[in-house]
Amino acid sequence: MTSKVLLATHNDKKLVELRRIVEEAGLDIEIVSLHDVPEYPEPAETEWTFEGNALIKAAEGARRTGLPSIADDSGLCVDALGGMPGVRSSRWAGPGHNDQANLDLVLAQIDDVEAEKRTAQFVSVVAIVMPDGRKKTVRGEMPGRLTFEELGENGFGYDPIFIADEQEGNLTTAQMSSKDKDAISHRGKALRQILPVLAQMLGLDQKPKA
Ligand code: IMP
Repeated sequence: MTSKVLLATHNDKKLVELRRIVEEAGLDIEIVSLHDVPEYPEPAETEWTFEGNALIKAAEGARRTGLPSIADDSGLCVDALGGMPGVRSSRWAGPGHNDQANLDLVLAQIDDVEAEKRTAQFVSVVAIVMPDGRKKTVRGEMPGRLTFEELGENGFGYDPIFIADEQEGNLTTAQMSSKDKDAISHRGKALRQILPVLAQMLGLDQKPKA
């Protein structure tokens, strides 16, 4: 029987990415999102760590729906800013501000930082919480550096100002295809790590890749 698992997000890009990874692994799991379950108010992300916030979101999903629930919390950690914006990445320019305002503020804050010191990491922590209370978190990181100006139209958030170390052509993550980005991204790495954990918690066999 197909197992149903909630990805506690409204973000369709995250849903598509997890579905693709589950399919590639040959797992008999149907991933649904918050669009597919009765609506509930999303919990406040009150923790100071990615782990804490991912667990809050996954635990609320499991509590509200009775389904095994996965959630991710992610952000950009800039070394010259002591690791900030971090868990505040989506709200960095304050309430009501958008991705562009957040990105503009980070660029302004490191305006005087030279190229070699503009190092940063994208971090994604994925949490799984089972209805019986079992839980686990995994972490994926994508190290890189920030540009001086925006380049590229793909992706979201801080993508136009980030060049990943594992990307050899000096393209920002906003200039990469989503498939190429997923292969090296913080979220792709974390989602691939959570799969064997999920399979084990659900008591499923992970089929070897063809
Ligand atoms: P979350 O959806 O609460 O995890 O918020 C993550 C925030 O971190 C987003 O709003 C973006 O600002 C930033 N972020 C996380 N992952 C990425 C990425 O892959 N590209 C660009 N920005 C990202």
